[in-house]
Amino acid sequence: MGKLLKIITVLVGLLALTGSILLFYWLPQRADKRMNFVREHEVYTISEKAIALHKQLQVADLHGDTLLWMRDPLKRQTRGHIDLPRLREGGVALQVFSVVTKVPKGLNYEENTADSDEITLLAFAQRWPIAAWTSIYARAEYQARRLHKIAERSNGKLHIIRTQSDLSEFLSARENDPALIAGILATEGAHPLEGEIENVVRLYDEGYRIIGLQHFFDNALGGSLHGVSNSGLTEFGREVVGELDRLGIIIDVAHSSEAVVRDVLAMSERPLIVSHTGLKGMCDVKRNVDEALMAQIAARGGLIGIGYWEEVVCDDSPEGIAKVIAYGISRFGVEAIALGSDFDGAITTRLDTSELAALTDALLRQGVSEEDIQKVMGGNALRFFAQNLPDAGAQ
Ligand SMILES: [Zn+2]
Repeated sequence: MGKLLKIITVLVGLLALTGSILLFYWLPQRADKRMNFVREHEVYTISEKAIALHKQLQVADLHGDTLLWMRDPLKRQTRGHIDLPRLREGGVALQVFSVVTKVPKGLNYEENTADSDEITLLAFAQRWPIAAWTSIYARAEYQARRLHKIAERSNGKLHIIRTQSDLSEFLSARENDPALIAGILATEGAHPLEGEIENVVRLYDEGYRIIGLQHFFDNALGGSLHGVSNSGLTEFGREVVGELDRLGIIIDVAHSSEAVVRDVLAMSERPLIVSHTGLKGMCDVKRNVDEALMAQIAARGGLIGIGYWEEVVCDDSPEGIAKVIAYGISRFGVEAIALGSDFDGAITTRLDTSELAALTDALLRQGVSEEDIQKVMGGNALRFFAQNLPDAGAQ
């Protein structure tokens, strides 16, 4: 009997071990690999002219969800789209690290409710702190602190930007060391506020400088572009926009309902960003909002970050993305157009961030001038942050 009990104990132990390995290692890695995929493609041939031009660029990307995944961004990885070595290869000077905190089951661009949440399992399987299994705020806090720790381990290579002076200091340091990379923290949706206005300051203190108002479902602030209500800002939403204005946190309306975008434009004087999107005139899908709204955002000095995935650009080749950018320049003016990859945001692309020279090459082939390429690939975003981040000592 004693022997049998021992065998059973060992078997149960082995089962638990196998289960843990599956749950804590295999599952998150498999999800990451399958969801952040680069389609196989020939190595891009890039002209001498494009190589020379790309070397001089300071590339900036308004949206990447890398912090959601269990991998070390300081090391070159074989899955996903972004890590520091690949950012360097792509000539990226500034990466916005956007933080995903709640994702409905059966995610789609048409209609989602807020009833389900896929991040709970991911948070558990990736061994996030217990608070982050259930609290949306704790998930935003955890991911911000994770980026700060990554910066601490980066030997001074990753700078987290909070103020205008952080950015200007970073840019002068980068003149002597092109391996330096700047990161800005953003939330994808403002549900981490959990309905509490005091949490805006707490997120600011954690380093967040961009707040997306909605993600895939309607939240306490108002309607999502992919929600049920299609409503505008709620009372709480208005209160939050006022607080974001007061603190100088940049507002991102990617994923917001058109009614929310209109309400924000009506109540806030500050320029907005649409961090990752396509353009309806080139790809008529629900994910891309009305161009009259885009035109207002551009006229207000805002930025429109063009993504690289098929569902928003309709053609995800470098050529296809370049066509959308060229169209955006002609439609909204060159100053308004930027890059918004959505890398590591559960999308499939035909390039990762190390291959961005292919985009410069395609833009040249589209007849975009070198000066305009410099603006779109990063110049506009750097100018925007230099003007719209809080001043040092603000709050
Ligand atoms: Zn998104």
